[in-house]
Amino acid sequence: MRGASKHINTRALAHNLATLSAMAPKAQAIAVVKANAYGHEATQVLDALACADLLAVAAIGEALALRRAGASQPIVLLEGVFEADELALAADNGFEPVIATPQQVDWLLASQQRFPRLWFKLDTGMGRLGFQSENAHAAMQQLLTRYSCEHIVLMTHFSDADSPERDITEGQIARFDDFAAHYPDCQHCLCNSAGIVRFPEAHRDYIRPGISLYGISPMPGQCGQDYDLQPVMTLKTRVMSIKSFQAGEPIGYGQTYRLPQAGRIAICEIGYADGYLRFIPSGAPILIAGREYTVVGRVAMDMISVAVDERVEVGDEVICWGEGLAVERLAEAAQTIPHQLLTAVTERPRKVVS
Ligand SMILES: *Cc1c(COP(=O)(O)O)cnc(C)c1O
Repeated sequence: MRGASKHINTRALAHNLATLSAMAPKAQAIAVVKANAYGHEATQVLDALACADLLAVAAIGEALALRRAGASQPIVLLEGVFEADELALAADNGFEPVIATPQQVDWLLASQQRFPRLWFKLDTGMGRLGFQSENAHAAMQQLLTRYSCEHIVLMTHFSDADSPERDITEGQIARFDDFAAHYPDCQHCLCNSAGIVRFPEAHRDYIRPGISLYGISPMPGQCGQDYDLQPVMTLKTRVMSIKSFQAGEPIGYGQTYRLPQAGRIAICEIGYADGYLRFIPSGAPILIAGREYTVVGRVAMDMISVAVDERVEVGDEVICWGEGLAVERLAEAAQTIPHQLLTAVTERPRKVVS
């Protein structure tokens, strides 16, 4: 059997949820499990998320899959519905739509569905979905013809909670509060992962952790460990072959790398068709038998090459990221964010959920 495999540690996931809930003890936790739980097999990790008060996904298809797999919590549809017809399906299944566009307000008011709770989204500076303050009051007035404030949670999303510039997020919180002051009976929901760790004053009634649930630091330049978060996904494979090369010999497609001196190269059973992305550059860190080496040459569809020393043997375990090598480090080497690496893992690697 080929070595490429994706390992999901459900105990680490439960631990991370508990850690984040303890950071915001008065808030209810909404576990964000969109995009297959950021690549962590959403339908297979529901037990580990049993302590989450709610779940959240991007679209109704994801929510239906979770319900079929036994999820019992209310599920927030973070982008609301994409068509009017989805409202009935949402109400029947205990999903709660975000209302973030004028069209969604119209659909809701034209429909016969009742929701126990709605999420009204303000755009306080993200510049994406949600109502800006002038239109937001008008939209709220429309909603209040059918729903009372007790059933409407005001929410917003931070664009820069992980930035060194605290004032961007402070401005968003201030704009949110200016609006919310008109609706004192509404609950509040503001924080993504970075907001949770950096802006306790914004914890309010509900928090929405995503990336941190999976053990990743929401702050650049730090690792999950710094926040008592444990990696949930480990992407592993194995050394298939080891060859010795002379100084100057080229490695892989395009001859993008030449050995500076004679050395050994380990060929490992993973490539971009597994989700080890092709732009991961020479020099990126990788762990073999517990020691760190570097990827060299171009990542191919099914294989990668690693510059190793005498200690590495055929069959040794290779850790691309996860336990022992933080995905944050690989993301930094590849000039991307951990989210992209985690969600890029394809269906090809074997899945081991334990
Ligand atoms: C994805 C998402 C989150 C989670 O964000 P993280 O930075 O991964 O914690 C929270 N809220 C909304 C609206 C989202 O789309």
